Amino acid sequence: MQSYPKHYCGVFGIYGHPNAAELTYYGLYALQHRGQESAGIVTSDGKKFREHKGMGLVSQIFKGEVLHDLVGKTAVGHTRYSTTGASHIRNAQPMTVDCAKGQMAVAHNGNLTNAAELRDQLEAKGLIFQTTVDSEIILYLLAQPENNLVQTVRKIEGAYSLVFMTPNELIGARDPHGFRPLCIGKLGDSYVLSSETCALDLIQAQFVRDVEPGEIVIINEKGLTSIQAFPEQKREAFCIFEYVYFARPDSTIANRNVYKVRVEMGRQLARENKIEADLVVPVPDSGNCAALGYSMESGIPFEMAFVRNHYVGRSFLQPSQLIRDFNVRVKLNLIHELVKDKRVIIVDDSIVRGTTCKTRVNNLKEAGAKEVHVLVSCPPHMHSCVYGIDFPDASKLMAANYTVDEIRQYLHADSVAYLSIEGMVKATGRPKDAFCMACYDGKYPVPFNPALDKQIMENRIERTKGLAGELAEERSQIKLL
Ligand code: SF4
Repeated sequence: MQSYPKHYCGVFGIYGHPNAAELTYYGLYALQHRGQESAGIVTSDGKKFREHKGMGLVSQIFKGEVLHDLVGKTAVGHTRYSTTGASHIRNAQPMTVDCAKGQMAVAHNGNLTNAAELRDQLEAKGLIFQTTVDSEIILYLLAQPENNLVQTVRKIEGAYSLVFMTPNELIGARDPHGFRPLCIGKLGDSYVLSSETCALDLIQAQFVRDVEPGEIVIINEKGLTSIQAFPEQKREAFCIFEYVYFARPDSTIANRNVYKVRVEMGRQLARENKIEADLVVPVPDSGNCAALGYSMESGIPFEMAFVRNHYVGRSFLQPSQLIRDFNVRVKLNLIHELVKDKRVIIVDDSIVRGTTCKTRVNNLKEAGAKEVHVLVSCPPHMHSCVYGIDFPDASKLMAANYTVDEIRQYLHADSVAYLSIEGMVKATGRPKDAFCMACYDGKYPVPFNPALDKQIMENRIERTKGLAGELAEERSQIKLL
């Protein structure tokens, strides 16, 4: 298990169900892998919004009677990892406003690349922001009398899958490049919107279809209406890392089951890297599917030699080196008997900083493995992501700074190999131009401000002079007579 880039967010919404809050709770439960820092649910009974948000896991936030108080047949929910804006309850979603157009709530997955400019423009008009997240900008844009929904989504740039709620509607919107997934389901007469299909499965909703890139779907008492907000057709740029790592293997995106795509990535890895070995071992859970694929294609036996402790909490994040070492060990334990005197291939889905992978190789060698070959089921990560994935910056990405042989030496491995870009794309069964692969190839589909980073809103606030600073500047311009 590497020091993985963090998930971004999961969004969920349901329209017209008497148990809207409970079903949203379960929907968020299924989407928990997409963000573990905070979560929230807002419901509507047609007149009034009720909300509950908190820090931590979904199961910790919605305890006891909380769900009973969330009355209403429509609900929107969000589980969050902070990609823009600090981890703080103030920044938890869904966000709500009460404006001249009425009440609105929004749950956002993604990262706007023009957030700072838009916020500057809105603040110049006198708007006061409560949070440091870019999702608030979307709500404020929508609240402006001159903007309708289409005009609002045409002003924002970057990656977004959105679920809006008004007192009597549920609305889904996906950016014109389709960076983030968003699908539509049906549960009886009720419509559901979800980041991933695994949440539909849990509540036993039927998958209807994906929301198309650039599409807005409006769900109300008349049913579902679809609008294409970008009829000029932008280049599709679905985040390929969803298939590699982010999405749950039991989800299906663009008609491709994620598990099957990952197994195929492992098969492709075997076609590209033939190694004489006795065992294929995944780094659980991230390497499971690809290791299985490698084993199936190569005929080399598959063994779950690393056993994962499922009860490791987030508190294992202490600063000292000793504790850090324990943290790595406590997550996975190795069955020594399986690997002693064997030539072992370990498969994982990424090497980001390399430190955790090095520990795994050491574990195997200490246990008596004769050879350790490291295979990665995607190409080397060379660039950071500006569309909502929290990769370290390029200076900390191992592949961006070292050759494959230098990485092999650092890991003390006998060989290291990555899946090729062509092989990764081939495994999805979709064309190359359907994807964003900027973190691999450096080709960013949507231009961005190079100063953009996760703390941009905080940094921006620090840059502002404050009221006292402004007055001081004004005073310095007053000439003494
Ligand atoms: Fe996904 Fe990488 Fe593109 Fe970010 S840069 S959206 S992680 S493919």
